[in-house]
Amino acid sequence: MGGKALEGQTAIVTGGARRIGRAIALALAEAGANLVVNYRTSEAAARTTAEEIRSYGVDVVLVQADVAQPSEAKRLVEAARDKFGRVDILVNNAGIFERTLMEDITPEIWDRFMNINLKAQFFTTQAAAPLMRARKRGKVVNISSVGGLAAWAKFIPYCVSKAGVIHLTRCLARALAPEIQVNCVCPGSIYFPGEPPDESYIRKTPLKRQGEPKDISQAVLYLVSGADFVTGQTLVVDGGYTLA
Ligand code: NDP
Repeated sequence: MGGKALEGQTAIVTGGARRIGRAIALALAEAGANLVVNYRTSEAAARTTAEEIRSYGVDVVLVQADVAQPSEAKRLVEAARDKFGRVDILVNNAGIFERTLMEDITPEIWDRFMNINLKAQFFTTQAAAPLMRARKRGKVVNISSVGGLAAWAKFIPYCVSKAGVIHLTRCLARALAPEIQVNCVCPGSIYFPGEPPDESYIRKTPLKRQGEPKDISQAVLYLVSGADFVTGQTLVVDGGYTLA
């Protein structure tokens, strides 16, 4: 009948109001999934994204939550269950990226990176897993970064948190098998209109460009709509930046 790949499924995207998360949410909506879009502060952007999602003929609920707090992550998943009765896909996209010089890093800064970039991915997955297992299926995609592979001296908490995401993915893939597949996408530098191009990234990158949000959403779509024999893997979408 040629139905859409994700028709009838429910997908949660954390930090889904803007930028890469928005692109992922729209790609999943275009593929037929109903969406639960989490945001923390970007309420207006979340509403705009919700309108775009509805234009694909699917349903959407917006959930304001700070996923760095496990109780909030749980509330997000419960909101998905209450609205749609099921969770098939979880994209752990929410994150922070800031330059942090070694001598300026405080325990609070360290904890903030770990809590948002790493701990949130674990506890959101922990909350969603029983709902996925109940239906004997589920796909989790964790968004890491090329910073989780490269060692950037001025971004230590970011790099360490994102490296943690790669190994968290491997551990969760084993812990949640065979019902749930857990994979990771490592974006390279992504260009957004209105921002200055990242010339240094472009220079160092074999494909001579930054990525577009669509480069990332296509990778996520592959992992959640096909890739049925793939788990615990990291798909690096960086134009070849990390090859050098
Ligand atoms: P941002 O880095 O700007 O952040 C994405 C969203 O995360 C924000 O919109 C924010 O929501 C949300 N967020 C932050 N903290 C929390 C929290 N505690 N609870 C809930 N949501 C939170 O967007 P990008 O699109 O740039 O990045 C998306 C992902 O891709 C991130 O994980 C990032 O590390 C990764 N990445 C991005 C790259 C890039 O070039 N942009 C490169 C490599 C990786 P709100 O706005 O509602 O507060």
